[in-house]
Amino acid sequence: MTASSPDRFDVAIVGSGIVGLGAAYAAVRRGLRVVVVDRTERPVGATIRNFGHLCIGAQDGPARAYGEASRGIWLRLAAEAGFWARESGTLVVARAEDERALLEEAARAEAGAEAGGGIRLLSPAEVTALAPVRPDVVHGGALVAGDLQVNPREAAGAIVRHLAALGVEFRFRTAVAEVGTGLVRTTRGDIAASDVVVAVNHDVDQLLPALAERAGVIRCALDMMRVAADLAAPLQAPLLTGWSLVRYRRFAGLGTATVLRERLHAERPELAALDLNQMYTQLPDGTLLLGDSHHKAVQPDPFQPEAAFDAFLAEARELFDIGGIRVIERWQGVYAAAGEEFLIEEAAPRVLALAATTGIGMTTGLGLAEIETARAFGWAGSGSGSDDTGRSVADAAQNPAIVGGAGTTATVGGIAQEENA
Ligand SMILES: Cc1cc2nc3c(=O)[nH]c(=O)nc-3n(C[C@H](O)[C@H](O)[C@H](O)COP(=O)(O)OP(=O)(O)OC[C@H]3O[C@@H](n4cnc5c(N)ncnc54)[C@H](O)[C@@H]3O)c2cc1C
Repeated sequence: MTASSPDRFDVAIVGSGIVGLGAAYAAVRRGLRVVVVDRTERPVGATIRNFGHLCIGAQDGPARAYGEASRGIWLRLAAEAGFWARESGTLVVARAEDERALLEEAARAEAGAEAGGGIRLLSPAEVTALAPVRPDVVHGGALVAGDLQVNPREAAGAIVRHLAALGVEFRFRTAVAEVGTGLVRTTRGDIAASDVVVAVNHDVDQLLPALAERAGVIRCALDMMRVAADLAAPLQAPLLTGWSLVRYRRFAGLGTATVLRERLHAERPELAALDLNQMYTQLPDGTLLLGDSHHKAVQPDPFQPEAAFDAFLAEARELFDIGGIRVIERWQGVYAAAGEEFLIEEAAPRVLALAATTGIGMTTGLGLAEIETARAFGWAGSGSGSDDTGRSVADAAQNPAIVGGAGTTATVGGIAQEENA
């Protein structure tokens, strides 16, 4: 195959989920000419299937830093693109003493830290003022400041429209078969670009199989549901439980988390078997998102066990002061999973693969894309509109080194490598 008269851009991005959109926003703000390619007709991946919970304060390390960076970008995009985002914080309900003890330990660990992500411990009465939970199950709780909530069903579409208005070109219903330095090969022809970003979530194992295997990327499939619930009052913020505390890094590494995890698993083995993260968000139309279960495999089954949905409904009835619940929708979402929380790899010169490899891409993806594209490609500043990459698209197009594609032999710097061993 040869690159015959490819279209030319400064930046080509594969994937129109939140990571790809973040990369496009970073590039277009720097005055670069950007194309986003996605095989689907609009974003329908993990980015629209989640809780819309931007859970910054429960993260630690790089995830916290990407989350903090994402926060400002989310708020700016919401204002510019006109979609719903609320500065809700996160409500954690403690239903037992060990859950309350863990919240206290986390608050102590960061006492004196900056206000962002600060943990304010709540009395049972304060918890029930913020959410219609049954008073008899509440031992206390906390409000994690700084967290946001968006409606995942509308945010990505609004960002696509906004970026298109800023000049980003979107090519939907166009699959990418191979990527390499200076070149993206699609089912609708070649695209030449100085910089290439691969933001395809778990499907990185199809486009860049050797890289994905080295990083240990597999899939995590989650069950979710949306219900109309007759709640006594609205939820003022996304709501987490002890099952979330033993997952998120800010809490999960603390001493009392071990005690809590052991108790939860001993008392509720059937929920532990679902790898439950019992949490809730309420959409602006009043419906509730309930979830979620986790099943990790290279290729998880598409079949969704009814036991997961039974558990979501039973646990919601236990927790909330609730009248009736009517199930509106059920779905499966999938995200990339690996040992590290992020995949940040240059697959070839100026070809950057980016993914959140745990379930925090909505929280971190915009910041991840902003920070890591600027770092990898040497983009200056935070995007005031200048183009100072100093390289021409034509130069890059002269040297197309393909590194990824379904069933291909890769060529990096002239050396052939088997990608699909
Ligand atoms: C059920 C569920 C709940 C979650 N809850 C939360 C939450 O509350 N908070 C949070 O922070 N995170 C949450 N997450 C994680 C978060 O949704 C993901 O980490 C994030 O959306 C990943 O974004 P992405 O852009 O990498 O992937 P995606 O949104 O999946 O986008 C990848 C895109 O790449 C495209 N693509 C793939 N291969 C190709 C190809 N060869 N050619 C062209 N296009 C291609 C796909 O069509 C897709 O549109 C949740 C995830 C799930 C599934």
